[in-house]
Amino acid sequence: MIDINNVSKWYGNFQVLTDCSTQIHKGEVVVVCGPSGSGKSTLIKCVNALEPIQRGDIVVDGMSVTDPKVNLNTLRSRVGMVFQHFELFPHLTITENLTLPQTKILKREDGEARSKAASLLERVGLAAHAHKFPAQLSGGQQQRVAIARALAMDPIAMLFDEPTSALDPEMVNEVLDVMVQLAREGMTMMCVTHEMGFARKVAHRVIFMDQGTIVEDCAKEEFFGNPQARSDRAQQFLSKIL
Ligand code: ADP
Ligand code: MG
Repeated sequence: MIDINNVSKWYGNFQVLTDCSTQIHKGEVVVVCGPSGSGKSTLIKCVNALEPIQRGDIVVDGMSVTDPKVNLNTLRSRVGMVFQHFELFPHLTITENLTLPQTKILKREDGEARSKAASLLERVGLAAHAHKFPAQLSGGQQQRVAIARALAMDPIAMLFDEPTSALDPEMVNEVLDVMVQLAREGMTMMCVTHEMGFARKVAHRVIFMDQGTIVEDCAKEEFFGNPQARSDRAQQFLSKIL
């Protein structure tokens, strides 16, 4: 589903990614972790073609981000992205936040977009808040809206960039619960997160990044179960967060 092949990227003269390769198969949940500044956000932005790459290739469901014939807006609309800061449209109601991208980008009829929005808000437990504005909701509720908005586009995969790290601790679980449910329903997911409880529960694989490279890429069982096999950097990092 997502094929990352020998990707290198520079911001000006600064090399942020060095020869990164991994594949994410349909239905697979991959957790990406690593120290701040290691290139996690950059890597997932490249998958969604929000950032260009200078070497290598990324192919998402057959669409290459480096192929000039591929419409990058189409690619972006097929991959849902959820950020640390929810980035909802502040002047639109919760329902409108979910319907606008559907009508504008997918050209859905208003009625169809509304019924899709209603069923997704129900699914994330926010049906009662449909008429409110983002600022009237808690951080955890806003993040669940952001997930519902991404799902309204019927994405083939979902990318998460530290979706719970800006939340008060008591709101983290309500967002993780939605992500766990999504994972169990078979969604293909690439999640940058340091929530190792989430990783243990639903991840198939864990990728550890350091200084722009993928240092470890292994099955969850191996990542958590075999500390001897870990690199020193991963071991050091995990000892700080576990
Ligand atoms: P992470 O998400 O792992 O914290 P990032 O991908 O955000 O890492 O950043 C990796 C490195 O690239 C950092 O050193 C950061 O300062 C740098 N960086 C990120 N975005 C930009 C940008 N738009 N321009 C220049 N440097 C950037
Ligand atoms: Mg980041």
